[in-house]
Amino acid sequence: MLSAGQLDHIVGQLLAGDRVALAQGMTLIESVHPAHQALATQLLDRIMPHTGRAKRLGITGVPGAGKSTFLEALGSYVLTLDLKVAVIAIDPSSPLSGGSILGDKTRMSMLSRAQRAFIRPVPTGGYLGGASRRTRELMLLCEAGGYDLVIVETVGVGQSEVDIAQLVDCFLSLQLAGAGDELQGIKKGIMEMADIIVINKDDGDNRARVMLTQQMYRASLAITRRKYPAWTPPVLACSALEGRGVAEIWRAVGAFYDLMAVDRGLGLLRQRQQLDAMRKQIEENTLEALFARHDIQDRYRQALEQVENHRVSPRAGVNSVTQYIVEMLNH
Ligand code: GDP
Repeated sequence: MLSAGQLDHIVGQLLAGDRVALAQGMTLIESVHPAHQALATQLLDRIMPHTGRAKRLGITGVPGAGKSTFLEALGSYVLTLDLKVAVIAIDPSSPLSGGSILGDKTRMSMLSRAQRAFIRPVPTGGYLGGASRRTRELMLLCEAGGYDLVIVETVGVGQSEVDIAQLVDCFLSLQLAGAGDELQGIKKGIMEMADIIVINKDDGDNRARVMLTQQMYRASLAITRRKYPAWTPPVLACSALEGRGVAEIWRAVGAFYDLMAVDRGLGLLRQRQQLDAMRKQIEENTLEALFARHDIQDRYRQALEQVENHRVSPRAGVNSVTQYIVEMLNH
């Protein structure tokens, strides 16, 4: 068990940029042990004044889109600019322990060896709900550790894209060139959420298809509701394998931040995200606390059963549970 003195040490080292301390802090945040959670809360309180300076970039794409190859390319490029880069790789498929750590390290071999880079795989298997909160906290630790760019990476499937968009400033969607008919199915959600769209594997025989795909995306964007009136998401091409297009993508990220600097856009976005996350968390915790009570669980089950057997209407079933809770709280 960690002592308060050891926590002091971790905080000091973490703020000084020590990667071991950063990893220790992350382990504390991920721990489900109540004593660790109390220390994690203290840790977060202490580092909070040192957060907020990094660019927060989200990257999603289907498996095989080239996310890790792209992260290697972008990460290497950013390192040449003398910046520090951290990658938080969320893997919804992997179990809590084992497997993914080695996998991700080998996937981003150059970055995992670089002194000014830090990679943290976040297995979410079996945890779901709390993944967003933990990822946000890990991101804050990276910022306190002096990382200039914090990338949150995850597979682009449904809810995980929505979650990631609520965590980061700039959301980059990595896509592949499709055949004509597949393009009909461009997901509207992506167009509405993405701040930058990148078509990867712009090399070899694929280049013509990439260009066609870019055109289709641009046409589709023209009829999509905009997230920001002054920002049309650029549709860029890149070969993560050859490193081509990466500098242009980084310039687009810069242009996005220039825009967000206007009228405190970034500050307001982050504030909204933070309050939304807090609201969600309070709701989740409240529900959890209520449903930890056996009498409420019984009421709940009873109501479901009665509705299932057509003994009462769904409305009456809902009322019986909520009224019970309200009365209980009033006592
Ligand atoms: P992820 O599943 O999205 O992380 O994708 P990976 O980075 O593991 O890449 C999947 C496959 O696509 C690998 O075989 C990569 O070598 C390949 N790949 C990634 N980027 C490119 C690219 O720009 N061009 C080509 N030709 N292949 C690529």
